[in-house]
Amino acid sequence: MSLRPDIMISTKVQAMEESATIRMAQKSRDLAAKGVHVISLSLGEPDFDTPEFIKDAAYQALKKGNTKYTPVPGTLDLRNAICDKFKAENDLNFKPSQIVVSNGAKQSIANICMATLNDGDEAIILGPYWVSYVEIVKFAGGEPVVVSAGIDADFKVSAEQIKDAITPKSKLLIFSSPCNPTGSVYTYDELKAIAEVLASHDHILVISDEIYEYINFTGKHASIGAFESMRNRTATVNGFSKGFSMTGWRLGYMGGPQWLADACNKVQGQITSGAASFSQEAAAVALRKERTEAMEMEKAFLRRRDLVIAHLKDVPGIKVNQPQGAFYVFPDVSAYFGTTNGNVSIDNADDFAEAMLTEAHVGTVSGSAFGDDQCIRLSYAAADEDLIEAVKRIKSCLANFKPKFT
Ligand code: PMP
Ligand code: GLU
Repeated sequence: MSLRPDIMISTKVQAMEESATIRMAQKSRDLAAKGVHVISLSLGEPDFDTPEFIKDAAYQALKKGNTKYTPVPGTLDLRNAICDKFKAENDLNFKPSQIVVSNGAKQSIANICMATLNDGDEAIILGPYWVSYVEIVKFAGGEPVVVSAGIDADFKVSAEQIKDAITPKSKLLIFSSPCNPTGSVYTYDELKAIAEVLASHDHILVISDEIYEYINFTGKHASIGAFESMRNRTATVNGFSKGFSMTGWRLGYMGGPQWLADACNKVQGQITSGAASFSQEAAAVALRKERTEAMEMEKAFLRRRDLVIAHLKDVPGIKVNQPQGAFYVFPDVSAYFGTTNGNVSIDNADDFAEAMLTEAHVGTVSGSAFGDDQCIRLSYAAADEDLIEAVKRIKSCLANFKPKFT
């Protein structure tokens, strides 16, 4: 007799959506494995290798035997380096005891949600949002309350909208800036307005996801936690995956109030313990050096943004804005809803992303995964030739799509 998955698997996991970014990346790989030349712009991962000096630091760490468990919230050396970074770059003052290093920023966000949410507590999520926020909140027992802005508002939610979404049950406000999936960057003034709204609501903790801090074309990164009124009520999340091109090293961190760090430490201590020891040693070296490589990568991303936008503007019916950071564009493709090429139909953003994969062999992610069903996400963390070829394929593929009923 075999076990019945519908009974064995918890209702929580049955209700959980699979990560769309990871699913689309896998679909692209599957198609490529069949011999199809797929250009995958689905996964948000820098295409650069980790800088050599960081890899060297990890080799050294391994050679000298740094291969054991570390303290659950991270080594003191790395937490000291993070405190110095927060102070110098973000005007945030933390003691090492207020930092928790995790297996990626994803785990930092999960720790915070698990540490704070009771069943039914509301988490206001600014949309379009990164895929995992909603599922993490739900898994932790919370209720996601999505407040969104469309392309005409540059995908940025106003302080007024946030004010209207606050209820006595609101406990968290979660957003990323620079934003995944839109590339939008909240300015100092926009964050100040949000901080002012929150000032009279002392039951809300902000999770400020700043993982794309070093890919910000405005030249000015602002941290909401640095506003005086936000200092004791913000968890600032960051990590090494994007700015240092260290996705596989699995290192992220959060700095926040002491009570929150203690709670995250407790959660992590029961679930995964400290992050990899040699990754942590190398990360401390990375943080203490100047940001030469990060700035070079940022320059390359800016050039690619301009390249992709210029080509996308040439595709009839596609509406794009000008992202100011990260490495994504989030075009509105709704002009193609209700069309067919005789082989497949496009009725929504999911169909659009699917059609681009099967008909044009370009991997993208449907905006529905990020809370906007008019758009798709393209990552431009790819070689220039691939980006040009991808948009060329999209354009010629779309030329065959005609309204269904004419
Ligand atoms: N936040 C955002 C906005 C992201 O795009 C990602 C994707 N890498 C993460 C958090 C998680 O990053 P990691 O776990 O690799 O540090
Ligand atoms: N954050 C990246 C993305 O949005 C990596 C995949 C993931 O962790 O979801 O594509």
